[in-house]
Amino acid sequence: LRVNFSVIQKETGFVNGLIAVLHDNTEQEKIDMERREFVANVSHELRTPLTTMSSYLEALADGAWKDEEIAPSFLQVTQTETQRMIRLVNDLLQLSKMDSRDYDLNREIVNFNQFFNRIIDRFELSKSQNVTFHRMLSDTPYYVDIDTDKLTQVIDNIISNALKYSPDGGNIRFGIAVKDNVLKVMISDDGMGIPSENVDRIFDRFYRVDRARARSMGGTGLGLAIAREMIEAHGGSIWAESEEGQGTTIFFTLEIEMDEEGEWD
Ligand code: ADP
Repeated sequence: LRVNFSVIQKETGFVNGLIAVLHDNTEQEKIDMERREFVANVSHELRTPLTTMSSYLEALADGAWKDEEIAPSFLQVTQTETQRMIRLVNDLLQLSKMDSRDYDLNREIVNFNQFFNRIIDRFELSKSQNVTFHRMLSDTPYYVDIDTDKLTQVIDNIISNALKYSPDGGNIRFGIAVKDNVLKVMISDDGMGIPSENVDRIFDRFYRVDRARARSMGGTGLGLAIAREMIEAHGGSIWAESEEGQGTTIFFTLEIEMDEEGEWD
């Protein structure tokens, strides 16, 4: 908060008034601070893989390229780091597009149960971990008006996290619940969980509970921030409940499309 005072003085020098102007800078300062923090985060996230690549390339240039044992593994490292940077830049582009509202939702009405099942199928077929999937989805079809590409990305991010933070032999549960005309989607794991004071922060850009661990798993720290933007663009909300050592559940909501009689199709 900034306060400016002006004195109202007569020609005789007699003071007969005082004007106080209050400027509320808090909102602008908060935005500026967030922007600075964001730029610092982006720089840091890019510098880490670049530094790693630089040292491996230097070793290769210094002669490691001739070593048939070492060279392929060093090249592998530089490739992994490049892929991480590509993911990061793609995520940043996505966020910046959403920030500038420079996008349209390509909405279509889909049967959510079918849509959700197909995504789960894809993960079930490709997963390499020993994690069991449990589908607790109803037989009643619920129709939603969504951008399927964006919602696919949201669900992909949530399931990838559930798998990433699940132990060997873990379980992932998929559920839906309906109240009034709102569909609530739940994806829950029995993995490491999140300390309660940090639960709400996981949707912030670049927030990670355990930086080193999350980065070593190839994450950008932007997956859930993107998910939140996308769900909010659909008019829904997204949140998490978690208990450390017990597991995490991510919830999000979507409005259900009803037919003209107000019945669910
Ligand atoms: P990341 O790329 O690091 O996974 P996200 O935005 O997807 O970034 O998630 C942010 C952070 O939230 C993660 O780094 C992790 O600490 C935490 N997190 C997200 N999902 C889970 C989960 N299912 N179990 C435990 N921690 C999670």
